[in-house]
Amino acid sequence: MSLHTAHLRAHSDVSRLDTFIALSDFDRPTLVVDLDRVEAQFRALSAGLGRAQIHYAVKANPADEVIDRLVALGSHFDAASRGEIALCLDRGAKPREISFGNTIKRASDIAWAWDRGITLFAADAEEELEKIAEHAPGARVYIRLIVEVSEADWPLTRKFGCDKDTALRLLDYARDLHLDPVGFSFHVGSQTRRAEMWAPALDALAEIWTAAQDAGHGLTVLNIGGGFPAFYGEEIEAPEAYARAVMDLVTARFGDVPHIMAEPGRGMVAEAGTIVAETMLVSRKSDRDIHRWVYIDIGRFSGLAETEGEAIRYQFETARDGDQMGPCILAGPSCDSADVLYEKRPIMLPMTLRAGDRVLIRNTGAYTSTYSSVGFNGFPPLDVICI
Ligand SMILES: *Cc1c(COP(=O)(O)O)cnc(C)c1O
Repeated sequence: MSLHTAHLRAHSDVSRLDTFIALSDFDRPTLVVDLDRVEAQFRALSAGLGRAQIHYAVKANPADEVIDRLVALGSHFDAASRGEIALCLDRGAKPREISFGNTIKRASDIAWAWDRGITLFAADAEEELEKIAEHAPGARVYIRLIVEVSEADWPLTRKFGCDKDTALRLLDYARDLHLDPVGFSFHVGSQTRRAEMWAPALDALAEIWTAAQDAGHGLTVLNIGGGFPAFYGEEIEAPEAYARAVMDLVTARFGDVPHIMAEPGRGMVAEAGTIVAETMLVSRKSDRDIHRWVYIDIGRFSGLAETEGEAIRYQFETARDGDQMGPCILAGPSCDSADVLYEKRPIMLPMTLRAGDRVLIRNTGAYTSTYSSVGFNGFPPLDVICI
């Protein structure tokens, strides 16, 4: 698919959002989420993923209405905490549809989840297995592996998972603890733009899978995690084609695995959301300053944390985009000097932009409301409206 069609696709469904936004006033930064677009993403990902079961990664966007829509569509859920499990149960998900996928769990939360019927847990260390064995005796566990090579724009590889030898030892240890070790999980890295980037991780996993079977473990669950991309200006495949290509890579290596789980977060909700922000100030630091500074009312501490390292490059739109465009350094409103969104690669905004102008930030439905801190520096956290 060409960049052009990717761009068209990303903007083809915005009219419902844009109509709502145009007719509304907002007195603080607001994320508007189109639930129909979430549904379309779910259907496309499901179609491409085939027999894999979707466990939506709740942290990407935990709005009640998003969870409600996904429950209605038959999604399952990957939860990372007691709070996320409680949310899914409250919104009507069944306990057996929820996996406790964080490898770092409080013992009392394991007991709480087990008590409510959650039976599937992730682990990547001995001590975690011991906690699970004590507080969820006999539970199903999968071992999370480190992905060594990742070309993802937002890699998650360092904090979670264990290497091959540790993983094989943990399977044995889980069995010794009378748990039910059912398989492996990994995360290829968030915003993995092309499906073929999954191949090295799947190759490594296939080797470990075979070694585990040779060691006598009858594995049944392969959890391929998240990584499904959203459109941020660089070419990506449409969700159905992307998911199908990933499943082709999986099937070529793991044809007969009974249960495959996939945990899209970003790919499910990012393109369903637009943030409505406001320009607070346009200025230059000196007469010779070639860059304008544009300050908007949302920053790194109120929802746009993924601008860290300028890794995720959001798309900005204003009503003046027909005017001459020029580069600017874009910054948030707070009094923290780290609250600069894009500086190394400046953002193009209209030269006529001025304080009070509305700025739309596209495809921001994922990892914005969850990263919005509770009013850092007195600036209100990101409001969320689902339509
Ligand atoms: C965050 C997370 C996901 C979702 O990742 P995306 O890249 O947003 O799809 C999936 N699985 C686990 C375990 C996660 O922590």
